[in-house]
Amino acid sequence: MMPSYLGGIEAGGTKFVCAVSERESGEIILEERFPTTDPISTLAKAAGFFKDASSQGYIIEALGIGTFGPAGVNISQSNYGKILATPKQGWEGADFLGTFRKSFIDLPIAFDTDVNAAAIGEGSNGAAKGLDSYVYITIGTGIGGGAVINGQLIKGLLHPEIGHISVRREGGDEFAGVCPFHKDCIEGLASGTAINERWGISAEELREDHPAWKLEAKYLASLCQTLTATFSPERIILGGGVMQQEPLLEMIQQEFKTLTNGYWQTPKNYLVTPELGNQAGITGCLKLAASLS
Ligand code: ADP
Ligand code: ZN
Repeated sequence: MMPSYLGGIEAGGTKFVCAVSERESGEIILEERFPTTDPISTLAKAAGFFKDASSQGYIIEALGIGTFGPAGVNISQSNYGKILATPKQGWEGADFLGTFRKSFIDLPIAFDTDVNAAAIGEGSNGAAKGLDSYVYITIGTGIGGGAVINGQLIKGLLHPEIGHISVRREGGDEFAGVCPFHKDCIEGLASGTAINERWGISAEELREDHPAWKLEAKYLASLCQTLTATFSPERIILGGGVMQQEPLLEMIQQEFKTLTNGYWQTPKNYLVTPELGNQAGITGCLKLAASLS
């Protein structure tokens, strides 16, 4: 039997990752990364990648897209397949689905957020393998997340905006917060950008014993409490650049224990870091493509 192929696009705010995988093995055969510039040339470059692939004999049967948001991910709504009100210059209204439908007529296409795709990736082959209900969050330049409950990505009017959840302020913390919309939502208080603004030094340069980490752990534990109370997941995966600060995970686990005060009997590996690293997103995009046929 001839092998069949799937396509994935992880559309990040700074870079795009395009890949073709073999459907059966899941092995990535072609991959290209390039910077995100304006929508017309960036989407054309992505389409060009799959045209080149097809001229080499790798004709994809379905495409999965995971994009930075906010994005129209609900198939029943008119904004499906488009970027919504993003602060990213020039991208509001960018029509992913329309562009790829024009270039690849009849190709089945799945469209979702990058964090939802990463959640699917970790569920298929990473830290949430075998679980029906889990949440994936990323603490990077901003904070975002996706929730899979009973095997389904949560979607509604939009998609969850975990980074914009409000948390209780720690006593004595007078930092205004950096979210342009809400100031002191969790992204405003605890993203990499917030750490940088609050302490005047980037997260990767902060020493392990800096008080920044205790405060960071308290806020992220508080976010995990809210996620536990709302979604009742079996596990929460915490990824993104800020989690590369290794002692942070254990500090969050400790703060979570104190904060939740024995209310939930969560397993030992309830709060974990991802297993797929920077491949979670593209793996999930390819998985979304696989789910189409
Ligand atoms: P993005 O969110 O833009 O996709 P990342 O997930 O890599 O990118 O997150 C970038 C953020 O992570 C920056 O705020 C940076 O300061 C922080 N960061 C990067 N490396 C480390 C590290 N080793 N320790 C702590 N923070 C880090
Ligand atoms: Zn916000």
